[in-house]
Amino acid sequence: MSGYERDPGGGSIARRGMILILSSPSGAGKTTLTRQIAQDGGWGMELSISMTTRARRPSEIHGRHYNFVDRETFEDLKRHDDLLEWAEVHGNFYGTPRRPVERALAEGRDMIFDIDYQGTRQVRSRLPDDVVSVFILPPSMAELRHRLERRAEDDPATIEKRLANARVEIARWGEYDYVLVNDDLQNAFETLKGILVAERTKRTRRSGMAAFVDGLLAETA
Ligand code: 5GP
Repeated sequence: MSGYERDPGGGSIARRGMILILSSPSGAGKTTLTRQIAQDGGWGMELSISMTTRARRPSEIHGRHYNFVDRETFEDLKRHDDLLEWAEVHGNFYGTPRRPVERALAEGRDMIFDIDYQGTRQVRSRLPDDVVSVFILPPSMAELRHRLERRAEDDPATIEKRLANARVEIARWGEYDYVLVNDDLQNAFETLKGILVAERTKRTRRSGMAAFVDGLLAETA
């Protein structure tokens, strides 16, 4: 089955779906951005729900924020190649279920991933033509700490671990296609929308365009 454009100006021309990856250190606003983009139907983006062995935070819902599983289940998923990518982050395992992604791409639906740089590398090497990656930077390290503390969902030791890890993650920004500083959520949304429209319009993604152009040329005006 082939997919159809939903973005303005595209008409209904078939193309393969793509994967928009957002990465950032914890607290840079990436989760807010990915959730809102996935919830707002206007973007035409579907959120990939990861598997994780991390403990559920009080505000999180199983199946909506993550699928929370034990280590044994996670190991089984890895063994059966059910994960498109996986990584250990802050001592817990995280992974992206493979089949829903492959189905979406084949059907021309776009997906959004909230994953780290280790996972991004794996997805890029497995599906090099389908990935658009964006790194989100915090405006400052002080603001990052402030956001983690304000969230008040992690104990102080966990916050320190996340801040130390943030430096490691930020150092990988050069591996991404796009980079933006999230000092204002609305600006970040606008920038992401621009990236999405440009990537959807790329000639190399428009598999159905040749037939459309043939039709145009066959028309007598
Ligand atoms: P958190 O525990 O704060 O929800 O997520 C911690 C980190 O794990 C974040 O940087 C997030 O992007 C990353 N992460 C979440 N799900 C996945 C996944 O499926 N794969 C990979 N590689 N990283 C993930």
